[in-house]
Amino acid sequence: MKSVARIGVAVLLMAVLGGAFFAETHSVRAGHGRIATTAQAAASTPASKTKMLGFKAASAAKEQAVEKQFLPLASTQQIRTFHRYLTAEPHPAGSLRNNELAKWVAQQWREQGLEDVQIHEYDVLNSTPKSALVELVAPTHFRASLREDAYPQDPDTKNPAISGAYLGYSASGDVTAPVVYAHSGNPEDYALLRKNGIDVRGKIVLVRYSNPYSYRGFKAYTAQKLGVAALLIYSDPEEDGFTKGKVFPNGPWGPESHIQRGAITYDFIEPGDPTTPGWASVPGAKHISPDDAVSMPHLIAVPLSWRDAEPILKNLGGPAAPKDWQGALPFTYHLGGSEARLHVKVEMNQKIEPYYDVEARITGSEHPDEWIVLGNHRDAWVFGGVDPSSGTASMLELTRNFGALLKKGVRPKRTLVFCDWDGEEYALTGSTEWAEQYADELKKSAIAYLNVDSSTSGSDFDGSASGSLAPALVELSHSLRTPSGKTLFDDWHATRARELHKASVTDSQLVETRIGSGSDHTVFLNYLGIPTMLLEFNGPYGVYHSAYDDFYWMNHFGDPGYRYHALMTQLWGALSLRLANSDVLPYDFAFYAQQIRLYVHELDAASHISTHMNLAALNQQIDAFEKSARDLNAAIAQALAVGTIDAGAAEKLNHSLMQVERNWCNPDGIPGRPWFKHDLYAARYTYAHLELPGITEAAEAGNWPVANAQAAILQRELQTNTELLTQARAGLAGASQ
Ligand SMILES: [Zn+2]
Repeated sequence: MKSVARIGVAVLLMAVLGGAFFAETHSVRAGHGRIATTAQAAASTPASKTKMLGFKAASAAKEQAVEKQFLPLASTQQIRTFHRYLTAEPHPAGSLRNNELAKWVAQQWREQGLEDVQIHEYDVLNSTPKSALVELVAPTHFRASLREDAYPQDPDTKNPAISGAYLGYSASGDVTAPVVYAHSGNPEDYALLRKNGIDVRGKIVLVRYSNPYSYRGFKAYTAQKLGVAALLIYSDPEEDGFTKGKVFPNGPWGPESHIQRGAITYDFIEPGDPTTPGWASVPGAKHISPDDAVSMPHLIAVPLSWRDAEPILKNLGGPAAPKDWQGALPFTYHLGGSEARLHVKVEMNQKIEPYYDVEARITGSEHPDEWIVLGNHRDAWVFGGVDPSSGTASMLELTRNFGALLKKGVRPKRTLVFCDWDGEEYALTGSTEWAEQYADELKKSAIAYLNVDSSTSGSDFDGSASGSLAPALVELSHSLRTPSGKTLFDDWHATRARELHKASVTDSQLVETRIGSGSDHTVFLNYLGIPTMLLEFNGPYGVYHSAYDDFYWMNHFGDPGYRYHALMTQLWGALSLRLANSDVLPYDFAFYAQQIRLYVHELDAASHISTHMNLAALNQQIDAFEKSARDLNAAIAQALAVGTIDAGAAEKLNHSLMQVERNWCNPDGIPGRPWFKHDLYAARYTYAHLELPGITEAAEAGNWPVANAQAAILQRELQTNTELLTQARAGLAGASQ
């Protein structure tokens, strides 16, 4: 998964705009005070009352009874047992161990009583290291170890199966050239080098991981475009090491030899197996050559620990680097250019190999053709203590608990689909291939995709959701207790206020509705238009994608006692149950409309689009969508309150509501990236969230004709959805007469 500094520019803007904005919408809402549709209104509902978004009173009481049975089942001891098994050996995608774990997960699911358990094979381009060499050849000689130290306290660190330093999909090659320090390796860094007269063409470039954060694949893409001969990416202790606090094995931060592995795929252009773009890599599928794949890097790249990077940095000549390029090592960093020379040699194995997704179901008792899809990836760079085996352990406990309910005759009304993805770390591969294979069924049947990548690296809850699902997540957070003894809702408020550097936040600001890429939700949201949620507990974590992200780390720092893992099981499970058992699907399109309006405000604040575009029509369309959504919310609340909505009318309504998210998708995709079809959400090349992607990217490029054309497409989509909600309301009124 990604390791993203989540608080980007947009959120800071929200902090500026958000107060006034939500105050305004709140006063509008006051006129409809009776209607519990928004996060704030929902949040004001005491947890004790049997009132839930989308439920009749009688159904809500039943749902509470089911949750009362479900929540106590989560066992920290059982989760720890799952976690120990999953993290016992390194299990990268394509490895024998990871393939064995696929069979093991399938076996667990069968024993737990899940249905339709199957393993899907996809034949995809895999990339593994054969050998790597990084050596300083001038002005002095030093050979990088490219290995991580073992510690006696943690026997797993002595495992001979731990790989050395490598980056998935690095090119193979052998180059000797001068080395240049390019800070974070983003375009503005190279601009500064150019100002200093330093040309990087044909040179070896050393960059650090995150200052500010950008996906390592974007660093590779940027370097490749500039003609860089090889890219080295190191972890500066300022970002994830001793500057932050105690390092492993005495603390959660990265020690001197820790290496952040990862892939450098250009999956921000198109995710999934690079050789089957846009179709599923089922056995026998056609493959294009890796040379023709848009998502394949053509650059040699190696990750380094700071211990391996230090002698290189120390020997760089050239001008001193600017102040904000300096790191935590106790000397002045220089830009380099000619004095220091490196020899880098990388040999990768690159071949088509099988990846295995595991799928299982609990078929719904009333609506078997309506699906809630839950997913987590199985593959890890090494042991995957946090990423992803914390999520896998939470998921296995979730399915065990659902299996126990099944045995007592408790079956959800809608179908739950459980997915254990392979190859997320390479190119979001397993989820993308599966969703490409089942695209038609998913578009017809999927209500939501609930992703948990890493479930736990600490106690700070981070919940993201498409705008329509945000209020349901806030509502549920009242019903769960954290290990602190408070409700999840209260803990979440405190965490979010801290993140946004505010004394307090409103309920509307709890859920992050700005969703980028970096995990398996991408294909569901951006390619298929399925409402999505991402759930995670975060904490101090400096060993991401290193050998120290392991069982010892989790038991000493991340979640000793596995209480947050268990809370994730409860949260993920209860959300699934509410989505599966509600009478009317708990989407809130009025809240979604407010988010869309906010995205337009933010874009205008950042790129001054209103001086080049007439936003009146777009804003009118958003207003109309919000009004139709409010009217529908009121009609639904009324129908649920008096209990007049029958099963047939509800089913018809639900199928209309499921269509709304699909309608944000343009079959042509966004300009330049046709795979990304959603017009509200996409990801930047850095993996950062990107709202209104078609308009935003055109505006940032100053291409106003394209920006206006993209705005027109969004207006048509808003109009379609306004009409859809208006008709849904009319249908509801007709049905209740
Ligand atoms: Zn992950």
